[in-house]
Amino acid sequence: MSAAIKTVEALVDAGLSDGVGLDAVAARYAIAITPDVAALIDAADPDDPIARQFVPDAAELVTTPEERADPIGDLSHSPVEGIVHRYPDRVLLKAVHVCPVYCRFCFRREMVGPQGLGTLTATELDAAIAYIADHAEIWEVILTGGDPLVLSPRRLRDIMERLADIEHLKIVRFHTRVPVVEPDRVDGDMVAAFKASGKTTYLAVHANHPREFTPQAKAALARLADGGVVLVSQSVLLRGVNDDVDTLADLMKAFVENRVKPYYLHHPDLAPGTSHFRLGIEEGQQLVSALRGRISGLAQPTYVLDIPGGHGKAEIGASAISGGDGCFTVRDWQGGDHRYPP
Ligand SMILES: *Cc1c(COP(=O)(O)O)cnc(C)c1O
Ligand code: SF4
Repeated sequence: MSAAIKTVEALVDAGLSDGVGLDAVAARYAIAITPDVAALIDAADPDDPIARQFVPDAAELVTTPEERADPIGDLSHSPVEGIVHRYPDRVLLKAVHVCPVYCRFCFRREMVGPQGLGTLTATELDAAIAYIADHAEIWEVILTGGDPLVLSPRRLRDIMERLADIEHLKIVRFHTRVPVVEPDRVDGDMVAAFKASGKTTYLAVHANHPREFTPQAKAALARLADGGVVLVSQSVLLRGVNDDVDTLADLMKAFVENRVKPYYLHHPDLAPGTSHFRLGIEEGQQLVSALRGRISGLAQPTYVLDIPGGHGKAEIGASAISGGDGCFTVRDWQGGDHRYPP
């Protein structure tokens, strides 16, 4: 197997870019494209939606005034290194800040990669796990990063076994792009590690385009589902990648067909150098409303915005209901309005 592409030179050698203007991008933001993803890119298509997600672009050097290094305010809610505790019942545990790919729109792009926050030391990981053990209100831990599935099955198992001892903790959730971008990593040992805590394990799979569901990716998802891991989805609504109803419908159907329940469709965050990916919230609302009439209720994601400044997520889909005082107007999927009670 060939190695991941991590430099401008390697991008040019692979025929994925002419490299013009990219040295400055590479100096600021990490680059990585796995062989699986490189094979999926149609280099002949200048608008290829896979290339757009992973191949760096000189447009990333443009930072707009509203963009910020910590767009969702992680750092303001971090009581100990590696923990983000924003909601009472759940915490993020960020053990690694490394990913197998670096998405050009990443909301944590200033924290991930070789110049990022690195990996927790053994002492820091001990302190993070102790924090979870000391806070009886924590019902769920969400392993994110970076991508926690870059850890070896042995290290994942070690973390899971330590979480097993925490009585009040019931749910362990992973957020990852690995099943899609490096599917062969998800082997039997890794699936077994996910079950090692005896807790209920959820895995949120990040994918943004239906073409990401290669035969290898589908096989990895099947190994997880067969292994007893509950799968939910996570996607980012991105200009030029999935900002049309047909693509979104095919993406959500692909999740459902592979036993992944659509969960969140994120409005893109205000990460630096990502304005070429952003669309308006009204445009997003129209796309999400159109999905309602198009595909199964099983395939509907919740459209969310992470409010800048650390205020958490809010649902931002267009409301179907208006009015009050016991008398409402409810809008159906074709745009027709109905009074309720009739
Ligand atoms: C997104 C997020 C969560 C998880 O939120 P859910 O709505 O439960 O998926 C938890 N903590 C932080 C800090 C988050 O940003
Ligand atoms: S995998 Fe997630 S954390 Fe890593 S670069 Fe992509 S969006 Fe960012």
